[in-house]
Amino acid sequence: MKAAAFTYHAPSSIAEAVALIATHGEEAKVLAGGQSLVPMLALRLARFDHLVDLNRIDELNTIEVIGDALVIGAMTRQSQVEKSDLVATSVPLLAQAVQKIGHFQIRNRGTIGGSIAHADPASELPAVALCLNATMELAGPQGSREVPAGDFFVSVWQTAAATDEILTRVRFPLAPPRSGAAIEEFALRTGDFAIAGAVSSITLTTDGLIADAAIAFMGMGATPLRASSAERALVGATPDEVDLTAIARIAVEDTEPSEDIHASADYRRKIATGLVERTLVQALKEASRG
Ligand SMILES: Cc1cc2nc3c(=O)[nH]c(=O)nc-3n(C[C@H](O)[C@H](O)[C@H](O)COP(=O)(O)OP(=O)(O)OC[C@H]3O[C@@H](n4cnc5c(N)ncnc54)[C@H](O)[C@@H]3O)c2cc1C
Repeated sequence: MKAAAFTYHAPSSIAEAVALIATHGEEAKVLAGGQSLVPMLALRLARFDHLVDLNRIDELNTIEVIGDALVIGAMTRQSQVEKSDLVATSVPLLAQAVQKIGHFQIRNRGTIGGSIAHADPASELPAVALCLNATMELAGPQGSREVPAGDFFVSVWQTAAATDEILTRVRFPLAPPRSGAAIEEFALRTGDFAIAGAVSSITLTTDGLIADAAIAFMGMGATPLRASSAERALVGATPDEVDLTAIARIAVEDTEPSEDIHASADYRRKIATGLVERTLVQALKEASRG
């Protein structure tokens, strides 16, 4: 099938894009890498009279460290992030996670902003953003605003961004000293969306105790989810004495997996328990190296 006819707009600035969306209202949709939107249009699962293509807006294609954050423009390709030394050294979890998205052809077009704005609960980057307490920067007719990741993901494919706002940049806090992070997922085939996945980040005190712990899941609910009870159980613990299998079981209690053609909810819970334990082992190992 082909997409229904639409009017194509190619603004060259954020202000121009915001004005176009304000003019055409709910009949307009932003086009980024097109890796999720174009199939939906072609299959007629979605239909918009106006597409506002962000690909010519250079100010949205940036990777830079500003203060204590790695700031990535929404139109930065997933493959740019994958190859960036700055990303690998400043937020290693992001570099690890982006490699797990689809295939290289998808990452060559797919964008950081598109993945986060699309908010698929099985996607890697929303879970990473939630785990690392990233901040989303939005631009709309009323100006700019910031939304913390914890408030951004509302439901399947739904975010706190209004229909007339675009995601412009995502700020990821720089990995602190004595920290480690890891991502693990299970998919039926390489490049498929994960059936379930886990992301963890650990920071140690100078004495080697767990100062901070963050655990997030993908594919385990309508949004990426944090495992707050398990995080609280880790803080203050001595890494060698903590029972990570028990922590992983607690973590999964905070999830609400659904049942579908690929897996039952119970199967997802079982897989996720093993995955979160593996991420914690890796994160602790990396953190202990300093
Ligand atoms: C075969 C295949 C396998 C894939 N596997 C994975 C996978 O394993 N993991 C994974 O995470 N993803 C996967 N994807 C999806 C891919 O990562 C997409 O790139 C991503 O979901 C959307 O990014 P995009 O830049 O292509 O956005 P688009 O498809 O252009 O847009 C997606 C949605 O986000 C909105 N949007 C985009 N940018 C903005 C913005 N700046 N502000 C506001 N709204 C915006 C659009 O309006 C649209 O609703 C896969 C895709 C395919 C085709």
